Parts: sequence; C-alpha cells; structure tokens
Amino acid sequence: MIAIISDIHGNLEALEAVLADIKQRDITTIYCLGDIVGYGPNPRECIDLVMDFPLCLLGNHDQGALFDPEGFNAGAERAIFWTRKMLESGEPRKNEHRWEFLGELPRMKREGDYLYVHGSARNPLNEYVFPEDIYNQRKMERIFALVDKYCFQGHTHIPGVFTENLNFVSPTEINEHYQLGEQKVLVNVGSVGQPRDGDNRSCYVILDQDKKTLQYIRVDYDFGKTSAKIYDIPDLDNFLGDRLKDGR
Ligand code: ZN
Repeated sequence: MIAIISDIHGNLEALEAVLADIKQRDITTIYCLGDIVGYGPNPRECIDLVMDFPLCLLGNHDQGALFDPEGFNAGAERAIFWTRKMLESGEPRKNEHRWEFLGELPRMKREGDYLYVHGSARNPLNEYVFPEDIYNQRKMERIFALVDKYCFQGHTHIPGVFTENLNFVSPTEINEHYQLGEQKVLVNVGSVGQPRDGDNRSCYVILDQDKKTLQYIRVDYDFGKTSAKIYDIPDLDNFLGDRLKDGR
C-alpha cells in the first residue's frame, strides 16, 4: 500500500496530521507529487518531513522557489519570494541540504502501469487538468494518449478520478473508493495543505497495487493555527489564510 500525497504548500499542521493518519494505518511508503512549498508559512519544516520519502516530484511552486517564478499571480509570486528567503535564512548546512533536495526532484516517475506527475502527463510541471476539462475532448485525448494505464497527479487541489470516456467523479460521488480496471484513468489525489473542493480537510489517496483499489482519505487539522501564522507574515496574503477555512 502506498499513501500518495500532493500540494503540501508549506502547511505544517496539515502535513503532520496527514502523516499521523498514514502512520496509524501502518502504511510506510509515501509518495509526494510536488508543491511542497509556496503559499504556506513552514516551507523548511515541510521539506524536512518529505525528504526521506521514496518518491517526491518537483511541483511548479518548488520550481518557482528554485528558479525565477514565471506565470504566477502577484500574491503567489510574493509567497514564492518569501519562501526563497526562508530557505536562505535557516541554518546554513540544513539550507544547503534542502536546496540540493529540491534541485534534484524529478518531474515524473513511471512504475509499470503507474505514472506519477504533478500537473499532467503532457506537461508534468504546469498543466492543470480541471474537472470541466472533460468537455475539452481534444485536450483530454492528448493527455490520455501519453498515459499507459493509470496516472496520479495533483496541481489543481481538486481530488477526483477522470476516466478515458471523459467522466469525472469526485471522492464523495464514489464513496471515497475506486476500483482501477481496464480503462485508463487520471487520478487527482487532492491537496494536503490547501484543499480547494469546498472541504477544508486535508486530502490524500491510499493506493493498493495488489487489489488495484484506491481510497480517498480526508483528515482534520488545525487550519486556524496555520491561518494565524499566515496573517502574521506580511509577505503572505491574508487571503491565503482565509481560504484554508473555506477549502477554496
Ligand atoms: Zn499546488
């Protein structure tokens, strides 16, 4: 069994709650699909917690912190520059280790029938695949053509399963469970640190590769604590704290 998490975004309270939930289920293999940092108040601590995972991918915000951020809105860009400042102002040896770790993150990983990306199979770092894209047949066909069987992704912070016949089902519509079959699917695992599907709880997926089943898990965390930290940091927009409560 593998726990697949994504889009932590420097939210330490959410990450700790999710890791505790995973541990309590006796799952020891954790994959992270990127965006460890950006938006949230604890980038260093979050990096330190994911460093030893057997798989961690590069997200667009991680890349923004590493290089010059491109294509972000003003608030997100300010958060990225603040994140970079944090990664430069920690203990020097630890900083070096963290930069090295971020700099070596892969953009995608293929394991048999399973493909793991941050955004999409076509553009692993930056492409969004939103639920409404099921009406964009051309886009979806091109993406599915690059997927052998099952693709796990994040980036939109909206969990759910896209099928090759252009359906999208949210976790609640499938009672949090999905059986992988012959059909190709794209599985968005949702976001740990900034859910945007109207549910403010952290979201992740447990994949059972033997039974080919997946389960969506939601975990409560103290978002008030995270928001309070965000409100205290002038470089992080208050909106970034507000949205944690609403899950938007
Ligand atoms: Zn993200």
